[in-house]
Formats: sequence, C-alpha cells, structure tokens
Amino acid sequence: MDFFPIFLNLKNKACLVVGGGEVAVRKASVLLQSGAKVKVVSPELCMELRKLEIEHLPERFSDTHLDGMTLAIAATDDRAVNVAVSEAAKQRNIPVNVVDNPDLCSFVMPSILDRSPLIVAFSTGGASPVLARLLRARFESLIPEGYGRLAAFASRFRDKVKAKIAKPSERRLFWEEIFEGRVAEEVFIGNEKKAEALLEERIEKNESHRGEVYLVGAGPGDPDLLTFRALRLMHKADVVLYDNLVSKPILEMTRRDAARIYVGKKKSDHAMPQEEINELLVRLALEGKRVLRLKGGDPFIFGRGGEEIEKLSSRGIAFQVVPGITAASGVSSYAGIPLTHRDHAQSCVFVTGHLKDNSMDLDWEMLARPRQTVVVYMGLTGIDFLCSKLVEHGLPASTPAAVVQQGTTRNQKVLTGTLGNLAEVTRAAKLTPPTLIIVGGVVSLREKLSWFEPD
Ligand code: SAH
Repeated sequence: MDFFPIFLNLKNKACLVVGGGEVAVRKASVLLQSGAKVKVVSPELCMELRKLEIEHLPERFSDTHLDGMTLAIAATDDRAVNVAVSEAAKQRNIPVNVVDNPDLCSFVMPSILDRSPLIVAFSTGGASPVLARLLRARFESLIPEGYGRLAAFASRFRDKVKAKIAKPSERRLFWEEIFEGRVAEEVFIGNEKKAEALLEERIEKNESHRGEVYLVGAGPGDPDLLTFRALRLMHKADVVLYDNLVSKPILEMTRRDAARIYVGKKKSDHAMPQEEINELLVRLALEGKRVLRLKGGDPFIFGRGGEEIEKLSSRGIAFQVVPGITAASGVSSYAGIPLTHRDHAQSCVFVTGHLKDNSMDLDWEMLARPRQTVVVYMGLTGIDFLCSKLVEHGLPASTPAAVVQQGTTRNQKVLTGTLGNLAEVTRAAKLTPPTLIIVGGVVSLREKLSWFEPD
C-alpha cells in the first residue's frame, strides 16, 4: 500500500488552495463540502471560484500563506509555484496535494462517492485518476442513493439496539438483517416512518419477519434496461418466479443460489394458472423467503401484477413493486419509432390484442382516431382482425404499421407495411414471439431514425 487511507475531519479548519482556475474550483468545492474554511491564493480568480464561499488573497504564493493551515492544495499550471507550495508545506508537515503531480504530493485525493455519512473513496495512488473515476461510476449503481440515509437512520437506533441486544455477535446478525431487508428498502424509497415502526417492532419482538415479495419489472429483454433497484432485489431474493417473457441473460443475473421456478405463460402453455401463482407467492413469503416475482416489461402493464399484489395485500404480506420499461417504450426506441411526434401523433394508446372467441373487445372508434399511435400487445394471432377493424372504423389502409419481434434483443426483427398489407407481410416472415404491433404515422420515421439493426 503506497498510501494510507484516512478520512480527515476538516470542519472549520483552514485549508489553502493555490491557483484560481478550473481545477482549483473542483478542489475548493470538495473542501467546502467537508466544512473546511477555504483560502484561495491567486492573482486572478475564474468566474466559478468567485461564486464560492472562499476567502480570496489576490497575490502570488509565499510561505506565510501556510500559517495556521491544516492542509494545502496546489492547483496552478506553473510548475515552479507548485514545487514551492509542495516544499514549503512538507517542511511544516502540512499535508499537501499537487494536482496531477504525484511526486510532489504527500497525500493524493481519491474519487469520492458521497452518500454521507457513508463515503466511499477510490484511489489509484495517482497512477490513473481516470480509472478511479470509472470505478466510482460503476459503484454509483451498486450503492443506492439512499445508503447515506440508511446509515444515518441506523445511527439513531444504535444505542437502543445495544441496550436490548447485549451480545455483539447477535447484534451483528440483527443489523445485517436490517440492512438487507425490508427496513432498508423502506428507507431507500423514503418511507422512514414505516421503517422506524418495523425496526421498533423487530427490536421488541426479537423475531425475524423476513418473508416478502418483490414484484419486479425486467423490461423488454435487453439486460441493460433493468433499473438499479430491480438489480439490487434480484441479488437479494431467495427464490425467483419467472415466465417466458423474462430473457435468459436477465434470469442469469439473479442470485446464483436462488431457487428458480418457471411459472410459464405462453398462450397455449399455462404452466401455472394465475391463481396458483398468487397462492405460491403467499406460501413462499410465509415461509420467510424473499420472493422475486420477475415479470417482462412493466408489472402493471398487461402483466397482472395488480392481481398478484391484491392477493398479497389481503394476506398481510409485505411487497414492493419495481416498475420496468414496458415493451411499447423499449421496443419502439430500439426500432427507431418514436411513439409521439409533433408531425404525426399527439397521443399514444396501449391495448391488448388478445383474441377471445375470435374477437377483440376494443373501442375501435377511439383507436381509429387520427394523429395517434396505437401499440398492440399480444396482437399477432389476431393481426388480420385488428388491421381490418381499424380500417373499417376510418383509418386509411395506407396508414403505416410495424410488427417488431423480440424487440431490444439480438433477435429483434422489424417488419413495416401498412394496415392494408401488414398481416400478409407478417405471415410471410414467420415471426417468433413476443411481438408488438405499432400503428400510426410515426412508423414512417423509422427509415430515418433506425439505429439498432442486429444481424
Ligand atoms: N408487462 C409486459 C407486457 C406483458 S404482455 C410489458 O410491460 O411489456 C406480453 C406482450 O408484451 C407480448 O405478447 C408482446 O406483445 C409484448 N412484448 C413484451 N416484450 C416484448 C419484446 N421484447 N418485443 C416485442 N414485444 C414484446
């Protein structure tokens, strides 16, 4: 280890920044964030620096500027000045950093991930600040924004828990459960009152209430379209219930040792009826498991997510819902078809084209309105019926329309045509599900806006 990492308390401590440019702005800003009193020595100050709450000495650096300083940073582009600051500070044993010049530094500044009071610092010891910054960016997604609040929340209860649970090993287990479980999730989404109530209850009863259900939207297929929260819960769950809309790479991202249960749901293959899925969710949660119900797209858009949580709610089981990117949104983006556009569509409707007794129970007048985009989920089987109904109710047969197979994945295929010929075009292409139908003038924009064309 070339550098010893520590976190300094700089509250109300005098710190010196030498230099008045852009780099000095960045350094002065972090110092101010730590509560330091910042003195800037530089003949000139850039606009940004002038806006900060600093003390400015409009002169060249001299040794006496270091009087009473806790720390010094040289951020000038004049090597002679930087060397002078470094040497003078070292002589007085004042920690000194010279920007981009590890040889002149007695300390280096890390890349910081600030979730105060939680702070994560990344350093390459000056070898490659860019690498440290990239790493930090990666951790941004792993450490939820709410972790700081969680740390502050936990500190409020520290003494109380200590008084109640005397044994350190038991206390450690207690806190692990809290940080991994429902209390933490409630804090993350801002339900601090509820989190407090749960924690109090947990302290009093000293029994675990771990079982809960995460209803998570997995998006349309590309794993990069998952949300941070979805990914976090996917890593936490003990058991995963998924259906065939969830792509394999996404399923692979769930916790390795979690049990995976396929609950099916192709039109012809109802591996498990909805009622049974609901019951299974209840049973697993009552066994104390963290249950992940992973759904394609968004759980609340043609996903029957509402029914599943209705059941959970009636049985008093804790649950949370994580929205996902719905097929309409993800698939249209990757197909180069904006759902609304000033020149083509001022509104957009999502409907299910599920055929029942060879018919669709839809409000055709409403769907056949001009300047509107219609997105049809589950519509492939009934595509003939759908297109002819729309024409029958007033949309021109020349209205542009598209069918997208497995949108956002490498198997994405986009077929375009018109209401008059889309059914025929589709039949010839032998598509594999899932497929989405998009109808409206916006489809014509694809020619110009297409950007994702997997082979
Ligand atoms: N809850 C899901 C929709 C479930 S209904 C969501 O919000 O997206 C299932 C239908 O979604 C499929 O029949 C298909 O019409 C559509 N769909 C889902 N993912 C898709 C994809 N990657 N490409 C095309 N259509 C998709």
